[in-house]
This record gives sequence, structure tokens and C-alpha cells, in this order.
Amino acid sequence: METLRFQVVGEAFKKKPLEVKTFAERPAQYFAKKVFNREKMYKYLPKDVYEKMMDVINNGARLDRSVADAVAEGMKAWAVENGVTHYTHWFQPLTEGTAEKHDSFIEHDGKGGMVEEFTGKLLVQQEPDASSFPSGGIRSTFEARGYSAWDPTSPVFIIDDTLCIPTVFISYSGEALDYKAPLLRALHAVNVAATDVCHYFDKDVKKVTSNLGWEQEYFLVDEGLYAARPDLLLTGRTLMGHDSAKNQQMDDHYFGSIPERVAAFMKELEIVALELGIPCKTRHNEVAPNQFELAPIFEETNLAVDHNMLLMSVMKRVARKHGFRVLLHEKPFDGINGSGKHNNWSLSTDNGVLLHAPGKTPEQNLRFAVFIVETLMGVYKHNGLLKASIMSATNAHRLGANEAPPAIISSFLGKQLSELLDHIELADRENLLSMAGKQGMKMDIPEIPELLIDNTDRNRTSPFAFTGNRFEFRAVGSEANCASAMITLNSAVAEALVDFKKRVDARIEETKDKFEGTEHSATFHAIIDILREDIKTCKPIRFDGNGYSDEWVEEATKRGLDVEKSCPEIFQRYLDPQSIQMFESLGVMTKKELEARNEVKWETYTKKLQIEARVLGDLSMNHIIPVATAYQSQLLNNVENMAEIFTKEKAQKLSARNIKIIEEIAERTLIIEQKVEELINARKLANKIDCEYEKAVAYHDTVEPKFDEIRYQIDKLELIVDDSCWPLPKYRELLFIR
Ligand code: ADP
Ligand code: MG
Repeated sequence: METLRFQVVGEAFKKKPLEVKTFAERPAQYFAKKVFNREKMYKYLPKDVYEKMMDVINNGARLDRSVADAVAEGMKAWAVENGVTHYTHWFQPLTEGTAEKHDSFIEHDGKGGMVEEFTGKLLVQQEPDASSFPSGGIRSTFEARGYSAWDPTSPVFIIDDTLCIPTVFISYSGEALDYKAPLLRALHAVNVAATDVCHYFDKDVKKVTSNLGWEQEYFLVDEGLYAARPDLLLTGRTLMGHDSAKNQQMDDHYFGSIPERVAAFMKELEIVALELGIPCKTRHNEVAPNQFELAPIFEETNLAVDHNMLLMSVMKRVARKHGFRVLLHEKPFDGINGSGKHNNWSLSTDNGVLLHAPGKTPEQNLRFAVFIVETLMGVYKHNGLLKASIMSATNAHRLGANEAPPAIISSFLGKQLSELLDHIELADRENLLSMAGKQGMKMDIPEIPELLIDNTDRNRTSPFAFTGNRFEFRAVGSEANCASAMITLNSAVAEALVDFKKRVDARIEETKDKFEGTEHSATFHAIIDILREDIKTCKPIRFDGNGYSDEWVEEATKRGLDVEKSCPEIFQRYLDPQSIQMFESLGVMTKKELEARNEVKWETYTKKLQIEARVLGDLSMNHIIPVATAYQSQLLNNVENMAEIFTKEKAQKLSARNIKIIEEIAERTLIIEQKVEELINARKLANKIDCEYEKAVAYHDTVEPKFDEIRYQIDKLELIVDDSCWPLPKYRELLFIR
């Protein structure tokens, strides 16, 4: 008898025809083909409208109605030329995905016919029915409306026949219901704070931009195998499955050659992404089998976030064309590496200075040190909150599981940079900064050769590592919206910079008489003094050792860092007084918004575990136990038959192994049954709790621990039950694409 599993696996391993998308054009020619970028604006908008748009995009000028109408007109002309019939406001609700509601351009023309119309009003604002998006109670049902408003800093783009307009999503009372609104506020805050600090060094700086370069990791599985795994289908991860004899122990996948079928998928994905203006640069195999990575060139953070959201959805579509499913879950398979999304982050000025890169002069290096140290100050003060910003039910499987990254936020600086900070902290103050006659000031701040710092020894266990000209926040989950981490990181750094400036200005005020009108040197003395204070203050966040060791947990506890591992508990960091104070003072989020968002986080956490618990229960009872029992019956028949044809003694001897297996199956299925019942009861109890936080805690403490107990028994059964009747594709099949 050929089982379902055999058919499915056989199908998946048949040679699939390759659909290689080829393009006559070079990437530079099709890049951003489907984006209404500056180049298209220049072509499709009247000159004065184009200039007003540039002012809106570059300087945050207000977009007035007449300009919006003219922009909409130009946009429509371009869109129609590209076969577009519909438009949608594209936004990022708190569900982690993106949302869109498509409307066509057509309107009655008043004469019984139709015209295609697209006005500034439709471009700028829409009212999607918000009642089915999570809001954490901000919108009680009687005020179920929210509205979406265009974010002109992220260009509109075309998907198939639809013009997509990136928007924020806000309730009528003004609270953010999405990720983009608070992100834009945080980016504004860090721009203002960093520009102010830059003015100590360069009065010409007008704007500081936050940059993000994400590295998206993902798994691919064959579509047929995926469909035969209800757990993958419904929860995004395997809830059971014994290790494959071979997985990543040979380290032969990382940077290995890319399988032909996968290469065809990647090629098409890149073309589609490049057309959408996503500057894809790097592709390679990752550590685990079937794991891959795609990274673009870094961009302004808001745009980079949009591009990541877009890429994740495009990836899913392209994969299906190639007979694959993309797994973005942080931990789809036990026992091998999970997936993350390193967020490479930095700040840069409008006149081209990377503020996290060392410069050539002592003055530039002092500025560099200020931005490094104030970043560390923000990360130190809000280390628990930063962890909360990347936490989710799914990412919890990676964090603290002795796999990048650890569940304690710390920062690795490398030898070069650590030495520079130590020098500034410990060198004689007068030597560090002295008046050198007519030449002005002399600073004893050593230069760091760019090459050296670029090759800085990398510490793979650090969740927030300095890598030459940026920090790499490595704790972000593969499935997450990067905005969550970016809102918190940019806010934390903005707050640190505001605080730094306040103290420096106060010190200048105190000491300026001493420097007899040489304002410049009063400033630098003040900067050095405050910087030295801060280097001392934020020292606990610096850690260059092994982030997975037990000693580190102990040491980090002593240093006062957040060592909490429970996801629902970590979310509480959003409601700590210092978090509320930070977000409110910067105008990023109000206490009400934070509370509402936490409700959503806890609710989402609970729902995810709820679904997993139900799937695990169903699979145990409907797939695993019946199959194991059927196999057990076969063995029982065999034992009976043996007893009929052989003497009692001989039959016993020959059947000993089967009897052992019969017994093991009986014992294991019994435990599974009991545990599933316990799981159901724990769930029922937890479901009775009204408070979202307490419910999430109950799921974490009483429901989740049962998962592993059940899985353990199932994985053991997988090893003893006849392979041909096992109902689910196994790891060794799921993990090796051919
Ligand atoms: P690695 O895997 O070695 O960390 P990758 O080249 O895969 O590096 O990815 C690094 C990412 O960091 C890319 O998106 C790159 O554009 C981005 N990046 C490089 N420099 C900066 C910077 N100064 N600020 C932000 N991102 C940066
Ligand atoms: Mg990296």
C-alpha cells in the first residue's frame, strides 16, 4: 500500500521543471521600474509641483490640496501607462503583515458611462474599516473607524494591476494603529536630537538620517511536503519531527553552492524586488540546510522597513511559482539554526558623514566617540525595552536558546573601539584636550585606521555589535516588522542625545568664563567631560565575551541588565515608567498607545500558542496515535501468528523485539493521550482569564511546557513506527531540496 506520505514525498522529489526568468535588460535598467520615484515624478509632474513634492519629501513641508491633486494626476498617468486599474492604501497594522483594500479608478461620468479618476483626496486619505485590525481597545466598536494617510517619503509602487500607496494608519482620536506612524515620529525625534549634537562639530548639518540595512533569513520547503504538514501550514513551524541524521553538522550548507531550483527562485525574486526599487545585493546559503539569506543595500530607515515588508510578501508569491513555500518563522525546525533579521543601523548627516564611522581628524573622532557612546547610553538604559521590541511568541524560540542571539542585550565593540573609549575615559584630561597656542585646540584622540576597524574581530554571539561603521542589532526576528526594533532603538538614542546635549550645554554655561570667550574650547571641554562620565555610566552594556555562557547570565544580573526570558513578562518593559517617559517626551507614543499595543502583543502571543496547542492536540490524536496503534496491531498479529506456528519457547524468543515495540508504543501513546488532556485542561483554564497579560502568562507557564513533553514522545514513536506508514514528511525530507 502506498501511503499518502510516500506519494507526497515522491512528488516533491521528482525533478521539477525550472522556470528561470530571464531578462534582456540589465538590473540598472529595470531597477525601480515599478516605482513612482523622483525620476518619474520629474517626468510626470509639472515643474512647480515636482519642486513642491521635493520640499515635502526632503524637508517635511506640508502637502496642500492643490499639490496633492496634481501629484495624483501625474501618478495616475504613469500608472495607467503601466496597465494599472486599481489603487490601494498600503499599511502595516499590528498584525505583523501588511494590509490593503483595493479600489478601482473607475467612477460614473454622469452621462451613463465610466471614467477613470484618481484625485489628491483619494491619494492622501482613506477610511478603511478598521474594526477587524487589532487596536488593543483604542477603538471601541462605536468608533470603529480609522483612517490611512499617505506617507510621501515612501514612494508609491505597482503590484500587478494595483497602485500601492504607503500610508500610516491612525484612529480618529489620533492614536497610531500601525507601525509606521510611531516609526516616523521616532525618526523625526532622532533627526532633531542628532542634528543638535552635530552642531557642536559642524554648524552646516541640516538633517540626520537613520539608516537601516536588514539581512533577511528564510527557509524554503517544497510545496508538496509543506501541504502534508498541518503544523507548518497552520503555525509556520514544525511541532514535531525527529532530528535528521544529517543536518548542519558538516557545515556544508553555509555559502555552499545554491541548488538549481533555489537559484531559479532567487533570480526571479531579485528581478521582482529590483523592479520595486528594493536594492538587493547579497544572496547566499545560510547555516542550516534549506536556509538562505537576502540582503539589500542599506536605505533610509522608513523606506528600508517598507521594502522589507514588501519583500516578505513578494517572496511568498514568487516562491509559490517555483513550487516552494517560504518559511519566515524564526524557528521552523528544532535542533537546527533559526532565522533572524540582522538590522544594520547607523546615522548619517545630509552632508555625507556617517556618524558611526571613525573619521580622520581628532575632532571627527571625538564626534564619532560621542555618537558611539550615546548609542550605548540609549541601549544601556533601555536594554530591557529593546529586548521587548524584538520579542514575540515566535522569536522566543531563538532567544535564550543558545543560538544567536542571547536573551540579554549587550554590545560588542571590538578591540579598536574599546581601546579608544578606554583612552578617552582614562587619559589625563588636560592632555586629552589642551590649548595649543595659535593653532587652536589640540586633542589627544587617536586615529583609527579605517581598514583595521572594518576588519574588527566579529563576535557572533553579541546581540548589538559594532561592525565598523554601524551597529548590527541581531536579535530581530526573521518574521518581524523591523519597525518595532527601529522605533525603540531610534527613540532610545534620541533620548540619550537630548540628555547629552542638555548636560553639555549646562556645563558650557558653567565654565565659559574660565575659557574667556573662547566658546569653542569651552564646548569641547564640556563634551569631553560629559563623554567621560557617560563612558563610565554605560560600561555595563559592553560585553565582548561569550553571550551564551552561564557565567554571563550571572554577570549580567550583577550588572543590572535585564535577564528575563519569559515573553509576556518582557512585554511589560513597554510600560516601565522610564519607557513611557521616553516615548512620551519624544512624541513617539503616548501611554495610552503603549498600553493598547501591549494588549495586542499579549493577545497575539496567546493566540499563537492557542493555535499551536490545538494543532498539536489534533495531530497527536488524529495522525500519530492512530498510525502508531495500527502499526502496533500489525505487530500483535505477527506475534500471534508466531505463537501458532512455533513452540511457545521459540515464539517468545522470536517475538521478543516486536513485543518490546508493542509495549513501547502502548506506553508512549498513553503518555501522549494523558499530556494532550492536560494540555486541553491548561488551555481551558487559561482561556477563562480576562486580563490579557495574565492570560499570556498562563499560556507561557502552563500550556507551553506541555508542547515539548508531547513532542518528545511523538519523536520517539517516529523512530520505531514503520517508516512507510508515518503520516508526516520527516525532517530529512523537508530539509533537503533537490
Ligand atoms: P554581513 O553578513 O557581513 O553582516 P552583509 O553584507 O550581508 O553583511 O549585510 C550588511 C548590511 O549592512 C547590508 O544591508 C549593508 O548595506 C548594510 N550596511 C552597510 N553599511 C551600513 C551603514 N553604515 N549603516 C547601515 N547599514 C549598513
Ligand atoms: Mg550581518
